[in-house]
Amino acid sequence: MSPPRKRKDAAAAESLVVPERRDFLRGQLLEWYDRQKRDLPWRRTRDPYAIWLSEVMLQQTQVATVIPYWERFLQRFPTVEALAAAPLPDVLAGWRGLGYYSRARNLHRAAQEVVARFGGKLPSTAAELLSLPGFGRYTAGAVASIAFGEPAPLVDGNVARVLSRLFEVEGAPGDRVREARLWALATELVRGERPGDFNQALMEHGATVCRPENPLCLLCPVREGCLAYLHGRVDELPPARVRAAPKRMTLAVAVWAHEGRLLLARRAEKGLFGGLWELPAAEVEDDTPDTDSASRLAEALGVSLSARGHLGTVRRQLTHRSLSLRLLQVTGLERPTEAPAFRELRWCTPDEASALGMSTAMHKALEAAVAAGALQG
Ligand code: SF4
Repeated sequence: MSPPRKRKDAAAAESLVVPERRDFLRGQLLEWYDRQKRDLPWRRTRDPYAIWLSEVMLQQTQVATVIPYWERFLQRFPTVEALAAAPLPDVLAGWRGLGYYSRARNLHRAAQEVVARFGGKLPSTAAELLSLPGFGRYTAGAVASIAFGEPAPLVDGNVARVLSRLFEVEGAPGDRVREARLWALATELVRGERPGDFNQALMEHGATVCRPENPLCLLCPVREGCLAYLHGRVDELPPARVRAAPKRMTLAVAVWAHEGRLLLARRAEKGLFGGLWELPAAEVEDDTPDTDSASRLAEALGVSLSARGHLGTVRRQLTHRSLSLRLLQVTGLERPTEAPAFRELRWCTPDEASALGMSTAMHKALEAAVAAGALQG
């Protein structure tokens, strides 16, 4: 017979980490990690920069996807100094396909600060790391503990799930009281030997055993210390996050060809796709007529232009947005070389355009425009 269900007040969670329980959880998880950890390339290096890069890439992206990107990025920018010295568009080009480009922009800015403020050496404490662009509590804790051995806590989605179940922490993801409780628990647990390995053990356990669906409780090394398991509540902790529906976004995209070249623009550095190259685009409504779309593009480019027809629509699903790129073939008497709404303009062949730092969505738009005959006639 399964044990009786019993609800614990989340406020009592901290008092549950009595020394014996703490030692049990730490010991079991570290031992399990030593036996079962996946052989991932960033676990074979002690280079803080390489470890930092892996943590940034892993924030929104699956491990299997990250591995080749991480390896290529390190070949292209092997040190903090090399990254800091590279032009931003080159860094964004190296990031293409990973999405969430603000991560790459922050990485680049942080590398420049590391060179300027810390002589090219990544600082070794979470407190100092937090002063760099792109470092939140999670990344600072991860780099400080894994690369430098500081007993700094971290909580990501995997750790939150494991701790919610182990300690029966109530509340939905995003709930502030719950988040504070989870960080307090992570802080208590990480103290001791091998803090970096312990943090990785918690994350690894969440990724491979204490999974969101169908956790492998029968194989779990800390099952006998897990309150959700003992109380038959594994399926209800943590409660699912209520996600907002992706926002629809429509962009009118100017496909302006001249003598085998297309007009490309680099966006301002803030906002969606900030700093990336694109076929010049302006946000419109779903039902904006072509003439109005052409006017918005003309305003963004600072010249008169007219629409000659459609070259199709490229659709792309991002995590928070459903994107429609409406390709509008345009032309004008005066060909711009600079524009009010963009940092830079260039007239490029398709091959030259492909080599620029461009989002995957815009890359597909470029391919679609060329395939639809944008450069002909
Ligand atoms: Fe997660 Fe199950 Fe282990 Fe509890 S017993 S920590 S729910 S895998």
